[in-house]
Amino acid sequence: MKELHGHCLCGAIEYSVSDDFEYAGFCHCSECRRFSGSAFSAIGGIPLASFRVVKGEESIGHYVKSEDTILGFCRVCGSSLYAQKPLRGKVHLRLGTLDEAPSLKPHFHSHVSSKVAWHQIGDELPQFPASRSAVATTALSRAGKPQPADSTSANCK
Ligand SMILES: [Zn+2]
Ligand SMILES: [Zn+2]
Repeated sequence: MKELHGHCLCGAIEYSVSDDFEYAGFCHCSECRRFSGSAFSAIGGIPLASFRVVKGEESIGHYVKSEDTILGFCRVCGSSLYAQKPLRGKVHLRLGTLDEAPSLKPHFHSHVSSKVAWHQIGDELPQFPASRSAVATTALSRAGKPQPADSTSANCK
């Protein structure tokens, strides 16, 4: 498996990641907007074991956003790097910190109900009002089944 590399703005932190993302998309939720400082966040999902910090582990700051989201950023330059998803065993990497293009390009927009008014989506990718899994879980809830707590949340958890 090809390895991709990435680093933060100041270079204190370097990482490598397998070019094997399971999904990738643009999240428009208000929390991703704040963490990224932009209109949306480009993220790629990969198993925890496929992501390795190769330099500057001590420079990584962590912010516990929720029980399944620990945000990682550079304490020197402030770059947003990833969200650890311990309950799912994933990392949601911020794709803008990669040095090279991943094989899997972002293929959806999520939480578009939280999209800022000053940005227009200009592609034909599928758009989901909340999380990408909310469509399936809405059907579950209609059937009286319990649904994941984050399925219709205003922000990705
Ligand atoms: Zn840095
Ligand atoms: Zn989000």
